Amino acid sequence: MKKITLAVLAGISAICLACGIAACSFGESGPQGPQDETGAQGSQGEKDPQGPQDEPAEEESGELTIRFPELGNGNAGDCILIKVGDTEMLIDAGSKRGSAKTLVPFIKQYCTDGILEYVVATHAHEDHIAAFVGSSGTDGIFANFQCKTIIDYAMKNTTSQVSKDYERLRDEEVSVTAGAVHYTALQCWNNADGAQRSYELAEGVSFDILYQKFYENKSSDENNYSVCLLLKQGENNFLFTGDLEEAGEKSLVEKNDLPHVKLFKGGHHGSPTSSNEVLLSKITPENVCVCCCAGSTEYTTTKENTFPSQAFIDRVAKYTKNIYVTTMSTGSGYASMNGDITVTSNAEGVTVAGSNNDTILKETDWFKSNRTWPSYGVV
Ligand SMILES: [Zn+2]
Repeated sequence: MKKITLAVLAGISAICLACGIAACSFGESGPQGPQDETGAQGSQGEKDPQGPQDEPAEEESGELTIRFPELGNGNAGDCILIKVGDTEMLIDAGSKRGSAKTLVPFIKQYCTDGILEYVVATHAHEDHIAAFVGSSGTDGIFANFQCKTIIDYAMKNTTSQVSKDYERLRDEEVSVTAGAVHYTALQCWNNADGAQRSYELAEGVSFDILYQKFYENKSSDENNYSVCLLLKQGENNFLFTGDLEEAGEKSLVEKNDLPHVKLFKGGHHGSPTSSNEVLLSKITPENVCVCCCAGSTEYTTTKENTFPSQAFIDRVAKYTKNIYVTTMSTGSGYASMNGDITVTSNAEGVTVAGSNNDTILKETDWFKSNRTWPSYGVV
């Protein structure tokens, strides 16, 4: 069943690549305009489908890559694909069910054996789990990849249909697909029921599930249930906190001895309420990647609070100017900002590249029209 689906999708993917962007583009509509149920909105932007990021990957052994793909629409959402050797790990799959149309072929370029060894769903919000489900029941990530170890949130408040669908398909992955296991972040932290606090992806590359109190305490904010993890390759550290808010960040700092990080996945899409000083002062990030559609009014029409917010920039600017953003709003739709972002880590260090360009946020035209770099910021 999976093999048939994979073959069909591979065919669709090949057709899209062969015919260029036209077959894959969506109709124009404003950021608040009507959306179809897949969440497809706006145009695909200027991303070149034949660009270097779309070439099949030949990873050198020992090289770790962390990819932040665009999601195929103008909505905020996370998806992070980590690869070392033949081992792939996926953290989240947003932003809408229709993002599966973009994400499944993207992941297939790098995950050529159809097996995602590790899957993490940070919390039960649509913009982090919808593409695991997909639109049709056969086009989502669970339907197209064998998932081996699935780690997700220990708590949730939402009763949304997409979270129920995610959990049903997750449980089927465990009960129907031989070899899949599911643990919550709390089970991992406790090394309970077969779960581990730390997993090795390859020699010298591992990740640790970090503790924060909302794995076992209620929060009125779903975001605070986010699974937090630290990926490590030698001295290079990479931190992922989902949409964790300030109360969760405080707990994370209190309960873990956090190191300096080469990369921080910008908290909650660059929201004014995440990536607070309490966390940043500990991790002093060198690079920050933000999964969002810059300037989209999806959540607010207050200009300075649209992602990535001015408050977020004001706080991060103290530590680094190396901020990267996947996508931006064009007002009538969306386009690539950096595009699909690839962070590469190896013995030589860590580099960041975008499929559209490598321009840091503060040097973009979007930034110059919409944000200011504080006088104390890194120059
Ligand atoms: Zn989110």
